[in-house]
Amino acid sequence: MPDLEYDVVVVGGGPAGSVTAKHAVKNGARTLMIEKRQEIGSPVRCGEGIARAWLEELGIKPSKKWISNEVEGARIISPKGFVVTLTEKMAGNECGYVIERDNFDKALAEEAAGAGADVMVKTSAVDVIRKDGRIAGVKARHMGDRFDIRAKVVIGADGFESQVGRWAGIDTTLKPSDVNVCFEYTLRHIDIDPKYNDFYVGSCAPGGYIWVFTKGPDSANVGIGVQLSKIKSGERGAAKMYLDRFIRGKKELAKGVAIREVAGAVSCCQPIECTIADGIMLVGDAARQIDPLTGGGVANSCRAGKVAGEVAAQAVKADDFSKKFFQAYEKGWRAKFEEQMYRNWMAKEKLVTLSDETFDKACEVLAEAKLDKVNTLEILRLIQRKYPELVKEFEDLIT
Ligand code: FAD
Repeated sequence: MPDLEYDVVVVGGGPAGSVTAKHAVKNGARTLMIEKRQEIGSPVRCGEGIARAWLEELGIKPSKKWISNEVEGARIISPKGFVVTLTEKMAGNECGYVIERDNFDKALAEEAAGAGADVMVKTSAVDVIRKDGRIAGVKARHMGDRFDIRAKVVIGADGFESQVGRWAGIDTTLKPSDVNVCFEYTLRHIDIDPKYNDFYVGSCAPGGYIWVFTKGPDSANVGIGVQLSKIKSGERGAAKMYLDRFIRGKKELAKGVAIREVAGAVSCCQPIECTIADGIMLVGDAARQIDPLTGGGVANSCRAGKVAGEVAAQAVKADDFSKKFFQAYEKGWRAKFEEQMYRNWMAKEKLVTLSDETFDKACEVLAEAKLDKVNTLEILRLIQRKYPELVKEFEDLIT
């Protein structure tokens, strides 16, 4: 392999990488996206639930190629079985479509390629290149061959296990309480209501939840996220153990046949302090942009990707690859969803402390109230009427 030279090199061909590459090239930057796996989007590591609204914002047209099912909303189910039904609008980042993630990722990569980006699969970044005190490309490997890809801008879109950020000296370390380990089956031949995505809360999934995201009339992704700090050391495979126990206890799921298993992890931290350095920007899971409450990261990855791509192209035009110039990216993605991330992180910090009894009481009240709008204050007031002790610490806020 000869060495290569581009304006922008994007490391990682997931949603963050493809959307960044598309917007960089559309705005005039010569762009290469490299992906270490042999096929974009495969194997899938995702519950495959996404909201609808943000797709329009990014000009991504819904397609039968990657939509598996459309849901009307979400149901939150407490340990004793109280069910809070939420409309799609209230349900957050993971409700609207249940998708085929492999096809979705491929469609995004095809859009990037269609706009003029070069794409190389089976190509890993193994280090960054430094020149004149900044990041100026990556060292890469393709089928045993090593070569340099020199670039004015490097985009680290290499997912949860990101190394690009670390190589560049950007601190993306996570506390165990800000990591959820996940395990998921795709089950066929089960009894479900395909109109809803279900979220089971409480001790069935310590510090997280169990999801049933419906892919069709008799199939769903049934998965779990468990907070890393709540798993006893040495408890290997804890997430799978909790999920298997849950499925065994539900006859409508227990009769299912697993056709896919997925293991992975998500960050559920508050927004990190910095996602840029001279010559480099981090996007998506690499930048810890996942919604800390739901663990959904596809939407935020794509929304941040658009900003990163545009800023990368502007940097090329301005011939300025400094951290200072890339502040436009920091400001851009933070304006879109930093506040919501922070609020959801606070909510998550509270939710992980609740007992099953508290979840039951809160869900009982909210189930009776038949919510059509989510308003934190209204929710607290409703709970206060029946169980004032549960919301004692918010008294000042409510009165
Ligand atoms: P990724 O999709 O992880 O893409 C990163 C890419 O970089 C990968 O293709 C990887 O192979 C490549 N790469 C890594 N290192 C290198 C390297 N050195 N060189 C070249 N390429 C490299 N989000 C939702 O919105 N809805 C859900 O239902 C949902 N469910 C989830 C369930 C599970 C079990 C898990 C683990 C996550 C889930 N998420 C969900 C989160 C979602 O999958 C991520 O937020 C999303 O994939 C982030 O996109 P990304 O492009 O940043 O990273």
